[in-house]
Amino acid sequence: MQLSPTAASEASPMTFCAVFVAFSLSIAALAAARAAAAAEPDIALYAMDCGRMELADADAFADDGAYKGVAKKLVVPCYLIRHPKGDLIWDTGLTEAMADAAAKPPGMSMDRKLSDQLKELGLSPADIEYLAVSHSHFDHIGNGGLFAASTWIVDADERAYAFRPQARADKIEFGAYAALENAKTVEIKEDAPYDVFGDGSVQIVPAPGHTPGHSVLLVKLAQAGPVLLTGDLWHIAESREAKRVPRFNVDRAKTIASYEAVEKLAAEIGARVVRQHVPEDFDAFPKFPQPLR
Ligand SMILES: [Zn+2]
Repeated sequence: MQLSPTAASEASPMTFCAVFVAFSLSIAALAAARAAAAAEPDIALYAMDCGRMELADADAFADDGAYKGVAKKLVVPCYLIRHPKGDLIWDTGLTEAMADAAAKPPGMSMDRKLSDQLKELGLSPADIEYLAVSHSHFDHIGNGGLFAASTWIVDADERAYAFRPQARADKIEFGAYAALENAKTVEIKEDAPYDVFGDGSVQIVPAPGHTPGHSVLLVKLAQAGPVLLTGDLWHIAESREAKRVPRFNVDRAKTIASYEAVEKLAAEIGARVVRQHVPEDFDAFPKFPQPLR
């Protein structure tokens, strides 16, 4: 079709106009995105080595028998989140008393103490304002007692689980965090994310099933983007894709629901998902004392 001179002369300014509007909109969107990025607080996330565990037989970590007779190596990390409004420790690893012990528990080792790594940053446990753990198992709350002067942010069900009679009966494991019973405590009761610093940048997200109040941590970094530290949602790399559930989880249905909720959240915000015990995920962080920002 041949355009009439009139149509052609009208088409050009219209096209130009449409392109200009689209261009202006994209500039506006870009500016808004930049403003949003600039608005993220300057947070530093440090991944610290808080021990290692070697499983001779990982059978307990999948109730479908997939790991029967299979040996696995797990890292045990601790994370320090430095926010302009304060410091948060997320998971405290194996008890650092292990570093000095002549005989280590079978399959466990520790190269460096958590307190020595904090010292390298000029910090002591007493300087850390907030403590939160993904859950109260010994390899996550093992140095909880060092942070009895911090404010402990904890799911109410998880706190009750940590102080149940059966947990108290194990003197060594319980002794490592018993002092938290008298710590300043913020109990999370709602079934919704808890915003640690009030700006949405660091949120404790419920993900129950492994334990009654297991949770994951969302950290929105200015440069690296959102990161999800997923506690013990998946201990072993392939458990995530295969949706495998450990035999010792307290609730299978809630575990599966937590898998789905965390995957949905991660997909929505494009988060980097960190399986905390998986060596390759730990090794992907900058080597301490360098932070991820
Ligand atoms: Zn664990």
